Amino acid sequence: MEVPRPVVWKSAGATMPGRCVLANNELKWYERPVRMMRLDYLDALERMKNADLDALARSKRDDWNINCDWIVGTPGIAPGLGFLTTFNTPKFEKYHSLGDFDLLREYLPHARKYGVHVISYLNMHWFAYDFADAHPGWEQICSDGIAYGRKTPLYGGGTTLCVNGGWRDWAIELVSEAMKTGIDGVFLDGPVIYPDACHCDACKAKFAERYGVEMPLEEDWSNPDWLHLVEFRNRSLAEFMADSRAAVKAVNPEGVAFLNAGSWQANTWRFGRGIDQVGPYEDFNGAEAFFHPGPRDHALLMWTATGKYMVAGGKPAVVFSHAALGSWHYIPMPWYEGQLAIAQTVACGANPWNAVFDYALDHSRDCAIAPVKEMQGFLSSHEEYYTRTQSCADVALLNSSQTATYYVSRRPEFYGDWGSGVEENLVADTGGGMKKLDWGKMKQTCEGVLDNSYLGYLSALTRSHIPFDVVLDDAISRERLSRYRLLILPNVACLSDAQIEAIKDFVRGGGSVVAEFETGAFDELGRRRESNPLLEMFGVRELGRMMRPVPFEEYVRVRESHPAVGEFAPGRLIARATYSLDCAAADGASVPAVFMNVVGGSYKPLKGESDTPALITNLVGAGRVAYVPSLFGDFYHRYKMADYEMLIDSVVRWAHGGQLPISADCPPTVEIEPRRSADGKQLLIHLVNNSGDMQRPISQIIPIRDVRVRATCDCPTRVRALRADVDLPFTYTDGAVEFTVPELGVYELVVVE
Ligand SMILES: [Zn+2]
Repeated sequence: MEVPRPVVWKSAGATMPGRCVLANNELKWYERPVRMMRLDYLDALERMKNADLDALARSKRDDWNINCDWIVGTPGIAPGLGFLTTFNTPKFEKYHSLGDFDLLREYLPHARKYGVHVISYLNMHWFAYDFADAHPGWEQICSDGIAYGRKTPLYGGGTTLCVNGGWRDWAIELVSEAMKTGIDGVFLDGPVIYPDACHCDACKAKFAERYGVEMPLEEDWSNPDWLHLVEFRNRSLAEFMADSRAAVKAVNPEGVAFLNAGSWQANTWRFGRGIDQVGPYEDFNGAEAFFHPGPRDHALLMWTATGKYMVAGGKPAVVFSHAALGSWHYIPMPWYEGQLAIAQTVACGANPWNAVFDYALDHSRDCAIAPVKEMQGFLSSHEEYYTRTQSCADVALLNSSQTATYYVSRRPEFYGDWGSGVEENLVADTGGGMKKLDWGKMKQTCEGVLDNSYLGYLSALTRSHIPFDVVLDDAISRERLSRYRLLILPNVACLSDAQIEAIKDFVRGGGSVVAEFETGAFDELGRRRESNPLLEMFGVRELGRMMRPVPFEEYVRVRESHPAVGEFAPGRLIARATYSLDCAAADGASVPAVFMNVVGGSYKPLKGESDTPALITNLVGAGRVAYVPSLFGDFYHRYKMADYEMLIDSVVRWAHGGQLPISADCPPTVEIEPRRSADGKQLLIHLVNNSGDMQRPISQIIPIRDVRVRATCDCPTRVRALRADVDLPFTYTDGAVEFTVPELGVYELVVVE
């Protein structure tokens, strides 16, 4: 029997390596809690010109409870008016209906009066064809030589311009001119480098100069020049961002600059805007998480998924919630969708942002304002509990941008003509088996699987009340991993030699790992390794082929009682995850569950237990390693089976091996995010109640009564529920506080001090 290790997280006041705790008065405004919004007038900018600007600024503070306002500097409206300014500058064309009225300079003093910082929204991606025609060579060009925006009109009409062409200087001068109005910063809505772009003359010349070869035209992940092109696109956008930020700082050293950046999705590389690339040149990491009512299914934890990812970038983070009913922009977001967006965002340590359309205020003013006012009023009056807080999680979930960018599994079974029910394979295109490598489709299949894996783990861990942080590739170092006890690698296929060594070091030093499928099989640029250097640590003697990926009638059987399979008793059948690999365990490793022999079709008899491990656990020095030869996260996200939620829970808890910082007796729809104040003296327990209708949009929140929480901490003197504004009775035993929240509405923040 393995002995549980002592809890290590309790070192109160522990901070992220490389960060120091500053007194609040030393923080810059954008390092404090920020609540942002953009009130959008679309093409009716004269409505703002004619408004009572003092009343408008006061409303931003008193009705919306924001402290940072976005004012349009160049509009993002049809037919692509990003070349017209709302402020006065001799260098650019003015938005006609404003005349001499300078939207930024006129509004700024009123905003200042009410303590609201002003950032200018600059549309950097959508330009009218006429404007592009007047500037030959500025457009982004696809590999077939046709401008991206002519083949794929933006929002129905308009084109997009290239960061390496003549537009670059124009755009950076625009940033500089906007800053000269006295504002606090700029938000760049774009540019991005669109898929299959850019092959303009400037890009081709720069690429040839940098790499000594011609730019490749076709997606081919076995071609080193294609890997160069992927890097070139990333670097091009990052360099543009660096120069734009420098232009901001040249005018105002305290000014901020940031981009509408990429988020957790695996296809982010297609736009070159991953936060691992542009983040170093931003003052905020921000990305969109817009809610839309059907037909696409929205993850219940969509703002958590974005918030945790953006926070992982290490900068102040913002989650952009469109406060609109999806594409019906002039109807406000449903009350609880709006409140959950804010609650999930701040519970993860990120800042909220809302877009509101002036037409929505004409018709539904109270409905638009009330939910935001209520939630942000609370945030505004409790800022100290949201300032420079630190996560208490000691579990890290890696969302690997390297893997998202470069991973293309070389296993043909992944894409082959193998069985009905498998979506997104090549069957339809090849008519049976893979005849020709279609890199594009292979890549998309891998991206889909990675997205599912991220959402699957994120959802399973949250529902199991296992606190975790999302980390990026740069967290895989000896120093950064030292604050965690468990690292989860959901098919993190692409790892550098240094990262492999850091992971091994982490485990040798007592850290634990849960790893899936092809983790470690490729280097950081997606080049397949001769042999996987992590297999020994995983307790794997060898990996075999991939099983026929069917989502029916194939099974796993629990072989022995083991804490990694939790309550599942020997003999229990569990559905086999669609994507699973044959493998053999090394001597000394444990195999609590095995695959059943292949059944080979629906309603066919079982064919007995195989020797092939479905789960391997291994003890390495003081560390624990669980290797999963399947894609658990992907499978759980697709099928939502309770068995998989339990399996992920038991594997993670076994690997963690100690006491989690928090436990709670409440439904899985209650999200619990424990954080600490910067000085370590307060434990801040965020409770987000996502229990609502069993469909979207959520029209009601079902209150949860008597939520019992137990959290490890030093003995407190007071436990307060801030939203309910009551002190809670508590007990303290064995190093943990225990209390009950009598009734949980949409959100509560409990302070243990
Ligand atoms: Zn170009």
